[in-house]
Amino acid sequence: MKVYNLSCQQHHRFERWFASEDDFLSQSQRQQIRCPVCDSVEVDKLPSAPHLNLSLSKVNAPDAAAQPGAAQASIQALQMRLEQMVRQVVENTEDVGDRFAEEARRIHYNEVAAHGIRGITSAEQREKLAEEGIEVFQLPIALTRKQSLQ
Ligand SMILES: [Zn+2]
Repeated sequence: MKVYNLSCQQHHRFERWFASEDDFLSQSQRQQIRCPVCDSVEVDKLPSAPHLNLSLSKVNAPDAAAQPGAAQASIQALQMRLEQMVRQVVENTEDVGDRFAEEARRIHYNEVAAHGIRGITSAEQREKLAEEGIEVFQLPIALTRKQSLQ
């Protein structure tokens, strides 16, 4: 079985399975392949299949693993950027701890002057804040009070 990406003259794209290239050609010649959107039988095969890209990325993966030095260097660079970001957040925000959701709401509804805050929220609290249109940026690491005092 082969999967082909097809496109009609109006550029509707869709996928079809065929037993073989010949099967595709014969169905195409007998106008048995129809666009599911506009029912056109003027259908062309697209040259690149996403399945091909998928197999290419699998081939590339072992190459990256073969260079642990390069991978490690980029992880270190990432960690440094992350530490800088955390430091900036700590310097420019007030630690409100587990009152974060409450405080974020007070700022959002102009009950207090806008200022940067940091603190702890549960996934549930973040979801509720998002529903109210309050944007919360989540750091990918835990920022405890002890760390923030340093
Ligand atoms: Zn179409």
